[in-house]
Amino acid sequence: MDNTTLWSRRESAIPRGLGMMHQVFAARAENAEIWDVEGRRFLDFAAGIAVTNTGHNHPAVKAAVMAQLDNFSHVCAQVTPYESYVRLAERLNDAAPGDTPKKTIFLTTGAEAVENAVKIARAATGRPGIIAFGGGFHGRTMMGMALTGKVVPYKTGFGPFPGDIHHVPFPAPYLGVSEDDSLVALERLFKADIDASRVAAMIIEPVQGEGGFYAASPAFMQALREVCDRHGMLLIVDEIQSGFARTGAMFASDHAGIEPDLMTVAKAMAGGFPISGVIGKADIMDAANPGGLGGTYGGSPLGCAAGLAVLDTIEAEGLCERAKEIGDRIVRCCEAIRQADRGLGDVRTLGAMSAAEFVVDGDAERADPARTARIVAEARQQGLLLLSCGVRGNVVRFLPPLTIPFDQLDEGLAIFEAATKAA
Ligand code: PMP
Repeated sequence: MDNTTLWSRRESAIPRGLGMMHQVFAARAENAEIWDVEGRRFLDFAAGIAVTNTGHNHPAVKAAVMAQLDNFSHVCAQVTPYESYVRLAERLNDAAPGDTPKKTIFLTTGAEAVENAVKIARAATGRPGIIAFGGGFHGRTMMGMALTGKVVPYKTGFGPFPGDIHHVPFPAPYLGVSEDDSLVALERLFKADIDASRVAAMIIEPVQGEGGFYAASPAFMQALREVCDRHGMLLIVDEIQSGFARTGAMFASDHAGIEPDLMTVAKAMAGGFPISGVIGKADIMDAANPGGLGGTYGGSPLGCAAGLAVLDTIEAEGLCERAKEIGDRIVRCCEAIRQADRGLGDVRTLGAMSAAEFVVDGDAERADPARTARIVAEARQQGLLLLSCGVRGNVVRFLPPLTIPFDQLDEGLAIFEAATKAA
């Protein structure tokens, strides 16, 4: 089997709507390395889009899933419940920020978690409106798309979307949007578009993922908390990409010292097994009627087993601390490149949610998506899998597993540096 033949079969069998970042067909993966069908080794700085924070095939996760497989793979949590679902919920309720008692429901994908958070917020408040942020990404379902603050490629041709969704600009000083600009836009929205008393919730990524790895400051998150409290609306924090030690804390919300009303989680929570969840204040979570929430595969036993092993691993291997060290090394490398490369306009990180933004000649207003794409392609040639992101497509994001050996991290960063020179 070779990549070229497989690629042509993929083109014939699969719609082009399914995006593709690397024409590399995976055969095997372990921790931070992937081998393709031709036997070539790649360093993985993508982690399946922020999923394998605990590395590919972590022995503890694999063992937990194998043990569960020996018992059963599916009975449906709504038919005959199982203890691992309850235990994982208990542990996440404890791990979530704030002291208010929590409850958790499990679903299957990130988008589904977002859908359910909105359902719960509407049931709890009896209000319709939802506020989201420009550049945000919340999934590919109808509500997920409606909340997502980027039209191309996510929304093109797929409307109409659910109503009563409003967007305000996300604060990104590098893009010329200050926190004040965002807060003023919010107040303007309440005057021009929707009465604050009709808003059920506001949803925000504490660090925008697909949008470009812009972090909302603690002060901004606290300001949103205050606006929500003042108007009786709920604060939904989408931790799907930022959660589970990636930012150097269990959740990015921990950095802001705020307590979300509802939190959506997915991706890294089970190290590669499809499970997601909504964690929230218990009385709010109980607003939906019995039978109103759920799904056949929601909280799959394999996902629960993996999720418990992931929580153990984050603790046992000190992955929050490791995330900080990884982020420091990435920033050090990028800052060194930036000394001599005016195209590397901005370097930023929260823990190991790190990014390098490419522009023309140091001008923040002139994004350079073409060079960004060349850097990603060149890095792949040299054996490193990177992802780009950003509303302007000009950001390289670094998402290595938090378990990556430091020599492999440095090896990958050296390839990145060489790729920036070649491209
Ligand atoms: N929210 C955020 C912040 C995300 O990063 C993503 C996925 N990139 C989603 C929601 C959607 O998750 P999924 O692809 O599992 O539906």
